[in-house]
Amino acid sequence: MIPFNKPYMTGKELWYISQAHAAGHLAGDGHFTRHCSNWLESRIGCRKALLTHSCTAALEMAAILADIKEGDEVIMPSYTFVSTANAFALRGAVPVFVDIRADTLNIDETRIEEAITPRTRAIVPVHYAGVACEMDSIMDIARRYGLLVIEDAAQGIMSTYKGRPLGSIGHLAALSFHETKNIISGEGGALLINDAGLVNRAEIVREKGTNRSQFFRGQVDKYTWVDIGSSYLPGEIIAAFLWAQMEEADAINKRRLALWSTYHQWFRRVEESGACRRPLVPRDCSHNAHMYYLLLPDLERRTRFIEQMRAHAIGAVFHYVPLHSAPMGQKLGRVCGSMSHTDSLSERLVRMPLWLGLEDEQARIIQEATNALA
Ligand SMILES: *Cc1c(COP(=O)(O)O)cnc(C)c1O
Repeated sequence: MIPFNKPYMTGKELWYISQAHAAGHLAGDGHFTRHCSNWLESRIGCRKALLTHSCTAALEMAAILADIKEGDEVIMPSYTFVSTANAFALRGAVPVFVDIRADTLNIDETRIEEAITPRTRAIVPVHYAGVACEMDSIMDIARRYGLLVIEDAAQGIMSTYKGRPLGSIGHLAALSFHETKNIISGEGGALLINDAGLVNRAEIVREKGTNRSQFFRGQVDKYTWVDIGSSYLPGEIIAAFLWAQMEEADAINKRRLALWSTYHQWFRRVEESGACRRPLVPRDCSHNAHMYYLLLPDLERRTRFIEQMRAHAIGAVFHYVPLHSAPMGQKLGRVCGSMSHTDSLSERLVRMPLWLGLEDEQARIIQEATNALA
């Protein structure tokens, strides 16, 4: 079986974990956490990076920092992972779903303004497949209406928009280090803070609502309960694992991009024959090869394609069931305008295996199995 995903290990993970073990500091915010946050701050150029247990946890922190209250509205695509909406629903907000663009499958920025009401508090662009949303337009809308922008950059590490790293553009951003992402720690994530006014409170929310971080820096002489919060910080074992990955991030990115380009080359002929459409990366965006997907002409052909791949023992999979059509999305959310791209594209998209270690032999099997498409 050629699995859809296989976590890549650089080889140094256990060595760094043994160092954390030997140092005897196992709680969060030790030596390895500092390495990882410094790396994120310097590579992404965010003001502050805080490691979290997951991207979900980072989005939940963002919802608290955005002061989301019962009945507030948060604009997002429906074609996304459940956590994008859940983090805000947990605070009583209504997720307002807007259709996606047919080219990048990202939120259609031209449809955001009509979704804004007096209750709107934030916009959550999701950079699907590590390809940037149209951030200039989104930031401009947010500025005009006084809204916060929270980038769901779970898939977007090391991608750029007009030369700017994803995660550095919105007021806040969330990254994922889940084992299906490019840089991993099993479960893991980070909250990136670009709005200077939110940094102090972010530290407090992450430390169970206490000013413990300020205490350790000697800025206050005791630490105490000052805000709502929870325990969002991962221990050093996770950070040690993650550091081994970050050290190799450029090599990982390069190798993923090579695999992505191989697929892109193969499927050129298939696209020309009209049997599929390949991913589109806008000219002013650089991507991170998080995903290789194909868009087939209809649901029936996608189902058949996935079955064919399975017959060749290849793990090709579909992706999100749009949130507006899920039971909880229907109960808690609101749809703004037509969802025709979301409905159509989500039925036609299939993701191909893409992981480091995919051998030439396996790649050849995939190529032969997909030749039938053309
Ligand atoms: C993976 C993913 C998440 C969730 O990440 P976790 O780290 O598993 O919580 C959220 N949003 C998007 C778009 C994702 O791809």
